[in-house]
Amino acid sequence: MQTVCEKSKCSGCMACVDICPKNAVRIEDTIREYNAVIDSDLCVNCGACHKVCQQNNPPEFRKPILWKQGWAEDSAVRAASSSGGFAAALELAFVRSGGVVCSCAHVGDDYGFIFAHSEDEVKRFAGSKYVKSNPAGAYKEIAKLLKSGSKVLFVGLPCQAAAARNYTRDHENLYTVDLICHGSPSPKVLASFLEDYNMKISDLGCAKFREGMGFRLNTAEKPFNVPAITDTYTKAFLSATSYTENCYSCRYARIERVSDITIGDSWGSELGSEQMRAGISIALCQTEKGISLLNNSGLCLFDVDLDHAVSCNHQLESPSEPSPQREMFISGMESGEKFKKVAGKCFPTQNLKNKIKRVLYVLHIKR
Ligand SMILES: Cc1cc2nc3c(=O)[nH]c(=O)nc-3n(C[C@H](O)[C@H](O)[C@H](O)COP(=O)(O)OP(=O)(O)OC[C@H]3O[C@@H](n4cnc5c(N)ncnc54)[C@H](O)[C@@H]3O)c2cc1C
Repeated sequence: MQTVCEKSKCSGCMACVDICPKNAVRIEDTIREYNAVIDSDLCVNCGACHKVCQQNNPPEFRKPILWKQGWAEDSAVRAASSSGGFAAALELAFVRSGGVVCSCAHVGDDYGFIFAHSEDEVKRFAGSKYVKSNPAGAYKEIAKLLKSGSKVLFVGLPCQAAAARNYTRDHENLYTVDLICHGSPSPKVLASFLEDYNMKISDLGCAKFREGMGFRLNTAEKPFNVPAITDTYTKAFLSATSYTENCYSCRYARIERVSDITIGDSWGSELGSEQMRAGISIALCQTEKGISLLNNSGLCLFDVDLDHAVSCNHQLESPSEPSPQREMFISGMESGEKFKKVAGKCFPTQNLKNKIKRVLYVLHIKR
């Protein structure tokens, strides 16, 4: 098998798929790992895929030059977001100034990337989706937009932001925002979890993976669990059990970043528990472009101690360590066992606690 980058190191950024003039590259997702596989019958050895690959050729990393915490001035924007609403505020300001935003949204049976030209379209980006998203097609479109003179803001995971920079050769009209990221699982893991509820990813619509400090998968139509219970999909995600192999050696999990702005949660913030519940984001700016965006996006900004922020957010220092349950979880998923069964084996204590919580909830003893 000929691959674009070293086997098991592919992050699924899809830049190689977008750039190949012969459609000779496809991403193979085994749940355990992604690989960008080259079809040797179609390949003409042009080398474009190897060159654009951010795993082979990462763009320049830059140290933050400004760091702030805070939230979107507009309380509706903050409330609709996962954390303090920095992403949405930056995106809204960008389209108001005539630019185009490219970010992740639920599209059919995928978490793909779409383009927003208006404030209404930006609303589709709200919320963190704790699953590997699929930017295939996005870079090609970004390059076209840049060529036609548009300014484009790309918001995505660090590996995807790096890919956008590589694909466009650091075009001056490309602005990038990356999320602090502790890893992401294959969408097949999510599909397997949903299967136990007779659902597919396409049924998720405006599902939320998180509401403020409450990390659990929820849809308006079908709650997966009673309140106060973290579902097993989220448990596998938060415990670093379900990610694809590359995430555990992610080169972007460090303080030097590849985007103009990096955003995440301001864990450990001293701004108080009430603000924490409402959501506090952190932003690290690596470029003057980033600083200008941050200062003109309708944000309430406060100073933050960077060393303290890093100590509360390990992904700014090093990649996630695989949990002790990872091998059992991945082997179970690979062999096609039901998600419920695999999660039952991997998280027996949590399962027992959940059963008790559910009974207490049904008996109105616990909310
Ligand atoms: C897989 C994953 C892991 C994360 N890990 C951490 C972490 O360890 N520490 C931390 O502080 N923060 C982490 N975050 C970021 C965090 O969840 C919030 O997104 C961040 O705090 C910004 O919040 P917000 O309110 O500004 O924006 P949100 O409402 O969260 O919006 C975020 C923006 O990112 C885009 N986005 C959402 N999900 C994805 C995705 N899967 N792929 C690409 N783009 C996406 C959205 O379309 C939107 O434009 C992670 C996010 C993801 C998706």
